Amino acid sequence: MDLTTLYRTVIMDNYKNPKNKGLKKTDKYHFVHLNNPSCGDDMNVEIYVNNGVVEEVYHDGKGCSICCSSASVMSDVLKGRRVEDAKAIINDFYELVKGEEPKDEETLGEAIAYAGVRDFPARIKCATLAWKAVEQAITEVEHESK
Ligand code: ZN
Repeated sequence: MDLTTLYRTVIMDNYKNPKNKGLKKTDKYHFVHLNNPSCGDDMNVEIYVNNGVVEEVYHDGKGCSICCSSASVMSDVLKGRRVEDAKAIINDFYELVKGEEPKDEETLGEAIAYAGVRDFPARIKCATLAWKAVEQAITEVEHESK
């Protein structure tokens, strides 16, 4: 199996069988909604941060396979991470899809599958939508707790 096929498999698996999909809609979670008008992607993210750890991440949305699968991968990769580590991984993901060298490839896990997005600039917004939503959620939670 070549790398491109492997990457496509990760994306299709997460599109068909998304992890952590579905919102809880309770006060326990911090909710953020973002959309990407250029593709019609619409993404909702919920997080629960406790003692500086992103303990739970859920997502629900509509959109293309890149956007929806990326939300699943994002939730799986960030769940259980300390807030500062989660932020570092988010930034590494942005570097990756822009075609730059991520600082820590290993912690990106399955997210590395989106490296090919750099060849399709119009899809970068699709790949990063859920990550932008979770980044905003983390920032808002940090401001609330100060
Ligand atoms: Zn899209």
